[in-house]
Amino acid sequence: MFTCKEYKKAATLEEAWQLNQKRSNLLIGGMLWVKMGHRSVGTVIDLSDLGLDTIEETEEEFRIGCMVTLRQLEKHEGLNAYTNGAICESVRHIVGVQFRNTATVGGSIFGRFGFSDVLTMMLALDSYVELYKGGVIPMSEFVSRKRDRDILVRIIIRKRPGSFAYQSMRNTKTDFPVLAVAAGRIDGRLFISIGARPMRAVQLVTDAKNAADAGLPDGVLETISEGGKITPEQAKALGEYAAGAVAVGTNLRASAEYRQELIRVLVKRACLAL
Ligand SMILES: Cc1cc2nc3c(=O)[nH]c(=O)nc-3n(C[C@H](O)[C@H](O)[C@H](O)COP(=O)(O)OP(=O)(O)OC[C@H]3O[C@@H](n4cnc5c(N)ncnc54)[C@H](O)[C@@H]3O)c2cc1C
Repeated sequence: MFTCKEYKKAATLEEAWQLNQKRSNLLIGGMLWVKMGHRSVGTVIDLSDLGLDTIEETEEEFRIGCMVTLRQLEKHEGLNAYTNGAICESVRHIVGVQFRNTATVGGSIFGRFGFSDVLTMMLALDSYVELYKGGVIPMSEFVSRKRDRDILVRIIIRKRPGSFAYQSMRNTKTDFPVLAVAAGRIDGRLFISIGARPMRAVQLVTDAKNAADAGLPDGVLETISEGGKITPEQAKALGEYAAGAVAVGTNLRASAEYRQELIRVLVKRACLAL
């Protein structure tokens, strides 16, 4: 059971940050993950009065407050137009509508869960995390950082000419993914992220520098950089490359061998969808 002695709705980010420095206190988003554990905390710190529950869209970027729910991501027209529906696809399998109406973007990203669809998706976009004390850092850097007691204020997605796709495999509907893949073609570079390996999602970048090292066949890079259609042969080669480049593991949902096979298939499908 999860219990707390006090509940505090923070009036400012500074107040929330000060309270969160005490190890016995706990910052919450939707509280859906933390309530699953057995834990007794001093004060739970709620950010829901700070106006961080909106998605702002400008010509250059999307600014997604940490208290935005997964359902807001799923339904946001601008985000889904920009990502070719990939954002919606990345969250729509998570449990159910009521759940997604409560689970927050802040809790999903700050948790850096190995199974995270949301994190996998963000790693294929030009995305950043804005931390209250730590400033703005690329998502790819944040994902491998050690957990600290900072506050994730918002996610920033910079708009770049590109296309995006998302694929996941689940043993049964609404379960955690067995493997998740997101692909983004941004400014002539290909970003592939692989999540639910079952370790934390990783990002692979294919550009002029590493295409030869990756053993990709001639023409793949040109196709990517010139915005041409990726052929089935090229998509297959990209799947092979990703399967060889990313470490996978075994857990109760699937073996490492099965996950490696899934990488081949899902990366191929995502690249064809691009
Ligand atoms: C049964 C179940 C099934 C799930 N299935 C999936 C799935 O298939 N795919 C998937 O991607 N996810 C899945 N999730 C995870 C879910 O989508 C959310 O990511 C998760 O619940 C965390 O979001 P939350 O808002 O509930 O955060 P909380 O549980 O409130 O917080 C999670 C952690 O983040 C910290 N935190 C929260 N907000 C902030 C912030 N702004 N700054 C700093 N730290 C913060 C908290 O202190 C806590 O440590 C599942 C969760 C559950 C419980």
